[in-house]
Amino acid sequence: MTESPINISVYEGSLLSVRSTGSSKDRLHRMVGAARRKAELQPQWKIGELPLKYRCSSCSNYLRFPIQFENCGHHVCSSCLPDIIRVASRCPTCQQPIAKDKITNANDLEKEVQNLEVYCGYKIKGCDWFGILHDFSVHLETCRFMLTNCLNGCGVKFERRFLSKHQTEDCVKRMIDCEFCHTKIIFEDEISHFSACSEFRIPCPNQCSTKNFPRSQLKNHLDTECLKQEISCPFNDCGCEYRGYRAAFVQHMKESSDSHLSLAGKTISIQKQLIKLYEERSNEQKIYIDLLSRKVNALEKTYGAQYIWRIDNYHEKFQEAHTNKKPTLYSPTFLTSRHGYFLGLSICLFGDGKAKGKYVSLFICIHRGDYDALLSWPFSHRVTFTLLDQNEDVNNRRHLSCSVKPNVCKENNPFLDRPIAERNASFGCPRFAELDAMTKCNYVKDDAIFIKVELDSEEMINI
Ligand SMILES: [Zn+2]
Ligand SMILES: [Zn+2]
Ligand SMILES: [Zn+2]
Ligand SMILES: [Zn+2]
Ligand SMILES: [Zn+2]
Ligand SMILES: [Zn+2]
Ligand SMILES: [Zn+2]
Repeated sequence: MTESPINISVYEGSLLSVRSTGSSKDRLHRMVGAARRKAELQPQWKIGELPLKYRCSSCSNYLRFPIQFENCGHHVCSSCLPDIIRVASRCPTCQQPIAKDKITNANDLEKEVQNLEVYCGYKIKGCDWFGILHDFSVHLETCRFMLTNCLNGCGVKFERRFLSKHQTEDCVKRMIDCEFCHTKIIFEDEISHFSACSEFRIPCPNQCSTKNFPRSQLKNHLDTECLKQEISCPFNDCGCEYRGYRAAFVQHMKESSDSHLSLAGKTISIQKQLIKLYEERSNEQKIYIDLLSRKVNALEKTYGAQYIWRIDNYHEKFQEAHTNKKPTLYSPTFLTSRHGYFLGLSICLFGDGKAKGKYVSLFICIHRGDYDALLSWPFSHRVTFTLLDQNEDVNNRRHLSCSVKPNVCKENNPFLDRPIAERNASFGCPRFAELDAMTKCNYVKDDAIFIKVELDSEEMINI
């Protein structure tokens, strides 16, 4: 037997292949379709009982999109066909086997059925609609007797004609105005809204009167009006311990005016003393802070304003100077304060120029530094060099000092002005110490000497 698939339009408007008897999804679809058909409201036929020729022998309903079995000439709904083929594949009217390639759409019959005159299925309830079957389903969309669900989602079903009454009077999900604050609320939330509504009327907790107050005004009532509210005397801070109903308060103020006055007087005098005490303390602190800030300033200035240069291997270096192998020694560079002048020392252990062979010559030189732009120029601070005596007996040390106060004038600019090159020319004490003096005291000890340089920071600016 050959099966040629044929497509027949069915109720629901979709195309259902006759050949596909299979998937459970299809079966479910058909069962749902049949159940829906059964639940549908049937019209009331004008001709009374519906003649058999318009009735489907499979579902007993009026024929919808009918098909005809060519072999026997009987009709069924196209939506009933797949079940018929699946179960027995025989015509449900005459039981003849169905030839699948001998099934045709009965369009004329469909037109005939759709043109049958009908009353609304709710005629019995009072609907007076009358028309042809074709228009019945459209009528049901507006039929006042049709059952409909509440659109607010309250779950209630009712005839369409009761819609407005339900929505305005019965529905628990309808919107209503709060009679106190006049905001929109859902009817079933009314009670819980009242427990928070700021305009809901509640009685005074002190039961001062039978009047009710809007919730938002109750605090003000208790704070300013309620005669039964317990309050403290405003002179409480001054020492009056009276506490009582507001009603009795006027009397208390009258009776206690003298004692209030004296309490207030005492309080004022105590306050005055306190203020004085605070002023004194604050002045003391001001003085102390001034002192500290001066100390900090001084520290800032002296930090680095003194530098000690230790020269090791003195005898070897002296020889090198003597033989002119290395006449000058240079110290590491140093800052006069954290953000001060950048300086370096140089020493000629066998003397320089005219002092050669007679004196140790000592010089200082200004190097180009990172903070030069912030400093005052030309450099004018007194510089003091000291050769330190290393005598173990601290009290018997005889340091050797020499100081230079820079003479600020145009000729000295190469020494004292802000450096343009890496470093300025050196200045200092060509006759710092007699060569003979170096062997005296304890200037050289462990083959090392110490040279201290100090700057007068008095006029140095604060950065
Ligand atoms: Zn049928
Ligand atoms: Zn038949
Ligand atoms: Zn109706
Ligand atoms: Zn409702
Ligand atoms: Zn409210
Ligand atoms: Zn009250
Ligand atoms: Zn008082």
